Amino acid sequence: MNKPASVPGQFDAVVVGAGFSGLYMLYRLRQLGLSVKVFDSAGDVGGTWYWNRYPGARCDIPTTDYAYSFDPDLEQEWTWSEKYATQPEILDYLRFVTDRHGLRSDIEFSTTVTSARWDEQEERWRITTDARKELRCRYYIMATGCLSVPKSPDIDGASRFAGRVYFTSRWPHEGADFTGQRVAVIGTGSSGIQSIPLIARQASQLTVFQRTANFSIPAHNGPASAERLKQLDEDREGYRHDARWSRGGIPLEPTDILGVTASESVRRERFEAAWAQGELFGILNVFADQGLNPASNDIVAEMIREKIRSIVTDPGAAEALSPKDHYFGTKRPCLDTGYFETFNLPHVRLVDLRKQPIVSVTEEGIDTADESFAFDALVYATGFDAMTGPLVAVDVAGRDGVSLREKWASGPSTYLGLMTAGFPNFFMLTGPGSPSVLSNMTVSIEQHVEWVTGCLKDLREAGFETIEPTALAESGWNQHVQDCAAITLHPTANSWYMGANVPGKPRFFLPYIGGVNAYRQACDDVVSQGYLGFRMTGPGGTRCRDGVIRRMQPDVAMVMELVAAMGLPPVDTLSAADARALMAAMAQTRPPGPEVGEVTDGVITGPGGDLPYRLYRPAGPPEGPRPLVVYFHGGGWVLGDLDSDDPLCRDLCARSGALVVSVNYRHAPEARFPAAALDAFAAVQWVDAHAAELGGIPGQLAVAGWSAGGNVATVACQLARDAGGPYLAGQVLICPVVDSDMTRLSYQENGEGYILTTALMRWFWDHYADPADRGDRRAAPLRGNLPGLPPTCIVAADFDPLRDEGVAYARALEAAGVSVRLARARGHTHTSVTMVGVVISGAPVRAEIAEALRNFFPNAAPQEPPS
Ligand code: NAP
Repeated sequence: MNKPASVPGQFDAVVVGAGFSGLYMLYRLRQLGLSVKVFDSAGDVGGTWYWNRYPGARCDIPTTDYAYSFDPDLEQEWTWSEKYATQPEILDYLRFVTDRHGLRSDIEFSTTVTSARWDEQEERWRITTDARKELRCRYYIMATGCLSVPKSPDIDGASRFAGRVYFTSRWPHEGADFTGQRVAVIGTGSSGIQSIPLIARQASQLTVFQRTANFSIPAHNGPASAERLKQLDEDREGYRHDARWSRGGIPLEPTDILGVTASESVRRERFEAAWAQGELFGILNVFADQGLNPASNDIVAEMIREKIRSIVTDPGAAEALSPKDHYFGTKRPCLDTGYFETFNLPHVRLVDLRKQPIVSVTEEGIDTADESFAFDALVYATGFDAMTGPLVAVDVAGRDGVSLREKWASGPSTYLGLMTAGFPNFFMLTGPGSPSVLSNMTVSIEQHVEWVTGCLKDLREAGFETIEPTALAESGWNQHVQDCAAITLHPTANSWYMGANVPGKPRFFLPYIGGVNAYRQACDDVVSQGYLGFRMTGPGGTRCRDGVIRRMQPDVAMVMELVAAMGLPPVDTLSAADARALMAAMAQTRPPGPEVGEVTDGVITGPGGDLPYRLYRPAGPPEGPRPLVVYFHGGGWVLGDLDSDDPLCRDLCARSGALVVSVNYRHAPEARFPAAALDAFAAVQWVDAHAAELGGIPGQLAVAGWSAGGNVATVACQLARDAGGPYLAGQVLICPVVDSDMTRLSYQENGEGYILTTALMRWFWDHYADPADRGDRRAAPLRGNLPGLPPTCIVAADFDPLRDEGVAYARALEAAGVSVRLARARGHTHTSVTMVGVVISGAPVRAEIAEALRNFFPNAAPQEPPS
């Protein structure tokens, strides 16, 4: 039972919303012994399942999974009748849970919270409702769901229609009878796609107005999956645990099969299995790369389009119903029961608004650019102001009276999707920046509720009364949320995930796409690091451990995990020969890099013998000579060859439009310092002398190199300057070795755990140069004479032990009057920027490198970046 308010009108917590999240929040807060008041504008519990009563409304996550897991007895007492339960059954379930735990007594229905203001003096929220009720609380929790504020009809004349108007999101409780009526449905998202087949059963004529064709797969509804029921019966707790630590909130083994490399038969088999299964997470897991790689995505998309064409008999309608303007999964895909089949019925018509847009709603019906339609009823299935809409619907004002609406004017900003700076003790359940709508909501809801409960308990035990994220932690999280989205195809779509469905709403990827498991880990890590990024205050003082919980690019983190899982021996424990063999074996499995026009191999005569080179010529126009870049591979002067950096050279060539000449140089320990540096200088001289026959423009020459290759590249620059030539237009140094001092902060921060370790760097130096030689400017070019060097682009990666020497070199060059561009590889390691086709987040850095190269050569032709 709830603790009553000790002072009338004053509660420990106010919760807004009595759906899945609000009910569970109330249950947990009571267990903490807090006094709680829950408000909901609806007349009963249920949240989204109270309002969305349109015909055909069902969940689209199997009900075995779309349910609470916190109460094992409840799980035994409730049996779902179908794989995907109907709205009435889910509503019954929520009522059952409410009554089972006696929650109703603390909920005030038909009451809307209109404003919430933080009172700085009292450190309380002042809450006002539409019943003019005022109350105060310490904790204010929004459990208002992600899709609860319907989008108002943004169609001219919407109010003029004289017939009956329905919104799928506000369906009348008494239902609607369309028998014998001419009905229009506007919108073909999940709500439209679920309701259209049932409305078609009653209506005498049904006209569907479609702006964007949507991907949908058959739900194959029926009894719950026998396999899943068996799993639950055998080990319910294990099953729920796996769900909590899965990517989407349902136990599922993510595939590692890539669409682009799978055989045709494997592609077909995987797709047909997912189609037959009828589950969203299954069809989103046909290939590991379908959410990232357009080519892979298109394989799945085309197979769905084939299915649509095989179902819909009218080829024109089939074509119009086949989505082509967005990648599969970037708008929420739908599950249907007979949706596409409905368009084979003689009384159902599809109007493609891309061909004939709506001009206006009229008294009688709808006018499009080409036709006037008359209707008896109009159904809007036009969606929601998703994720942010419900939160800013209340006039929330935090510190200094700043409103949430103002703070979020250009997009939401949260820490973990749970809180936002400037709004102490204000919690959001499944807020923007959390997995929410991309996951099985019930799992995400339980995780959020439990996190908030744990937090309030910890605060109380430590004697704190307020909690609020710091600006640094919040901006770090926002960045991470956007980084996660940026490596996927999602930001390309005009989806409600991007806020694109609401005119004027800022374009901003709203949910967290890094996965339920990764997200849960981040939330847990915040707690185990003493509430990292939160400021807590109370009578006992203030505690704040400021910081950013996830700084690494998500795909870099994934690669790191994969490499760790391989259990490879540390390279610094191997012989040079074994290390080379390991590197060569690893290179076999990576993508080849982009196509270029031509690749030819040749040999340069160097000071110590032949030096193999590989020449990359860009594809396409212009014909004729191009600027030249001499490139030196990485590998600590010990490892690497023309093959090791082949994908990177292709990428540099394709992006910059320059000829790239990758030159191998003598390696240590067979040829120690200064062999590599001398070879590099000799190679630059040779390429300069042979520019025309290589197809280059004489005099338009730059150098580039990664890691130890950056070392020899810049040493070659210094030697060329001292020798009075060749003239070099610029140098690009990617995470270069420029000094032998291994005590810099970046060594301390990143010397372990990021592939290039301090131990490995020591191994490289030991192989390459005697300690007495390591201060020589041809080994440590940072110690050289720097004036007169060409314009320079240096890439410094956050998690690289060499980061600070790269930065120091940039500063020293600047001080010597050299033009320098320092490109920060945010969230990258020493090796990740160069992992072409593997680490997608490295692409913008390589684009910056290519731009720097093009700028070295003023007459170079601009290039299209490789896809
Ligand atoms: P939605 O996915 O946003 O779909 C709205 C539809 O209306 C879209 O086809 C949209 O076209 C169209 N539309 C919007 N404004 C329009 C205009 N002015 N003129 C013409 N067409 C217009 O909304 P929803 O179908 O309600 O679904 C929202 C989300 O709720 C779903 O994605 C899902 O997450 C959830 N949901 C789940 C279930 C379930 O099965 N459990 C059921 C319903 C909803 P554009 O695409 O061109 O904008």
